[in-house]
Amino acid sequence: MTEKRAVFFCSASDRIHPKYNQAAREIVRAACLSGYTIVSGGSYRGTMGAVCDEALSCGAPCVGVIPRFMKGWEYEGLTQLLWTDTMAERKALMRAGAHVALALPGGIGTTDELIETLVLRKLGRYDGRIAAFNLDGFFEPLITLFDHFVRDGMLEPADRALIEFPKTVAEAAALFE
Ligand code: AMP
Repeated sequence: MTEKRAVFFCSASDRIHPKYNQAAREIVRAACLSGYTIVSGGSYRGTMGAVCDEALSCGAPCVGVIPRFMKGWEYEGLTQLLWTDTMAERKALMRAGAHVALALPGGIGTTDELIETLVLRKLGRYDGRIAAFNLDGFFEPLITLFDHFVRDGMLEPADRALIEFPKTVAEAAALFE
């Protein structure tokens, strides 16, 4: 059976409401139970740390991809830790072979990872599912921006439809069924 990979784009912040990491853990658990390898930015910080903790405690393979200039921020004890020279290489390796790319609530780093993946999907350079976890409306401003792009002809409705916005843990977990 071929390996199923799920990449999680995660906040690196330790100052976020605990509900975000709690929900992240529940989604990761569902992905692990469905046999996915869990891929992330491989840091112990923020939601990345919660995702790695949960994957390892579920016994799932957990891969981290981190640039060398972040030495010291890596999560110790991952199944595999890949070092890159640049953030661009990191994003490419995180995404490589992923069947699902899920952005959890995050900031500019998470948004960068999400948008790059969406652009590559639009251009036929990535073929997995893409979603952003819209817990308590977190991603509503991004949805508003995308809908504005569609209204003004900057984004094709078909391309807008390439990204899903699950609102609950159950809806996000269903990505991995
Ligand atoms: P942000 O959403 O701005 O918190 O950025 C988180 C994402 O950007 C992660 O998935 C990482 O790939 C990258 N990133 C940004 N800052 C850090 C950091 N301090 N440690 C590790 N990764 C980071």
